[in-house]
Amino acid sequence: MEKGNVFVGWSINEEVRKRGGSGGLVTSVLAAALDKKLVDAVVVLKKINEFEAVPVITSDVDEVLNSAGSLHSVPSNFAKLIADKGMRIAVPGKGCDVRAIIEQGKRNAVNLDNTFIIGLNCGGSMHPAVTREMLETVYNIKPDDVEGEEIEKGKLIFKTKDGQEHGITIDELEEKGYGRRESCRYCAIKIPANADLACGNWGVTGDLAGRATFVEVNSEKGAKLLQNAIDAGMVEVKEPEAKGIAIRGKIKGVMEDLAGKWKDKVFEPVDDRLALFRKELENCIDCGACKTVCPTCSCGEVSKCTQYHSRADGYKMSMFHLTRFLHLADSCIGCGQCTDVCPADIPLTRLYRRFANPVQDELGYEPGMDMRKPPYFEVKLND
Ligand SMILES: Cc1cc2nc3c(=O)[nH]c(=O)nc-3n(C[C@H](O)[C@H](O)[C@H](O)COP(=O)(O)OP(=O)(O)OC[C@H]3O[C@@H](n4cnc5c(N)ncnc54)[C@H](O)[C@@H]3O)c2cc1C
Repeated sequence: MEKGNVFVGWSINEEVRKRGGSGGLVTSVLAAALDKKLVDAVVVLKKINEFEAVPVITSDVDEVLNSAGSLHSVPSNFAKLIADKGMRIAVPGKGCDVRAIIEQGKRNAVNLDNTFIIGLNCGGSMHPAVTREMLETVYNIKPDDVEGEEIEKGKLIFKTKDGQEHGITIDELEEKGYGRRESCRYCAIKIPANADLACGNWGVTGDLAGRATFVEVNSEKGAKLLQNAIDAGMVEVKEPEAKGIAIRGKIKGVMEDLAGKWKDKVFEPVDDRLALFRKELENCIDCGACKTVCPTCSCGEVSKCTQYHSRADGYKMSMFHLTRFLHLADSCIGCGQCTDVCPADIPLTRLYRRFANPVQDELGYEPGMDMRKPPYFEVKLND
């Protein structure tokens, strides 16, 4: 087992395999890491229902085994949860979670050497409240009747308690203003090559489709993590079919192209950037929720920019936001959480990214690249 290997794998535990997003491999790898003391704790989502879940750090193997499954309407980000814990931790995460963890690593709040990151391929997540509204108005089903969902062949399919399946194409949903969150549409990290392992269902073919995960080993730590689960007898892997590898590459390319088109559309150039920023921010109520939820910010509660929050702020543009724009220029990961929580409905992620995109392009950042390595660090340190 070494960096660069690719496999198709699944959980040996039939129950976990059935409940898992695609074969339960991720859950069993996390459980094995805990069971064999490779890590002290694991992060998982504790499901409440299809639209709500609580991220937990646990050392209970059963709690990990119970967490199998993908929640597409729970856009949580785990980076802050594992900051400053001083433990060996294994954590699953979408591309944005992975970037945020690396950002926390750059701020010395997470020791990346002690952190095992299992990346999940991600075509996008959905806002829970918007999804509930979409279910009622577009699908004509009661949100509380939903007991599972999946994405297959471009369709978002909800399963209801009566055993029925209801599918509509994501394109159609997005035309109606529903579907994936805006930042997910233009996010180009579809396969998190910046994680120790990258796992997803793209490229799983034949009888194994839906019952196994395609795994990419991206680091020595990733190799150790997967080998540990195999040695513990908790997962099984085999070589993927050449056809599967080709399909996976093709889907990745299509998804990245689509993200590029969304990026051009969302960030259409404007003549007067300052006027745009000021107009969008005029309804800010200085609640600070955007900073609290931001997974890359590690300033803590009492930081300088928080003190700039003031209704008496007489500047033409809020000092708080000006500071945050600069603060996030090299590190906004576009996770969308600030927009999700803003009570004034300000499209904050779009604004932060509009500011950050040219800076990150200049720094040589490319989606999915390992930002712990050159050229990103090289550019940063030599400048
Ligand atoms: C929002 C989302 C979108 C995805 N989109 C795609 C896609 O387009 N193409 C593709 O190939 N694969 C996608 N995946 C990955 C896929 O659904 C499976 O997670 C992956 O194949 C691993 O399957 P598994 O059965 O081994 O994982 P499991 O054994 O089911 O383990 C999944 C782990 O992910 C955690 N988790 C669940 N939901 C979330 C969440 N919202 N955020 C962070 N962690 C979570 C769980 O706590 C659990 O630890 C997506 C996953 C998510 C969460």
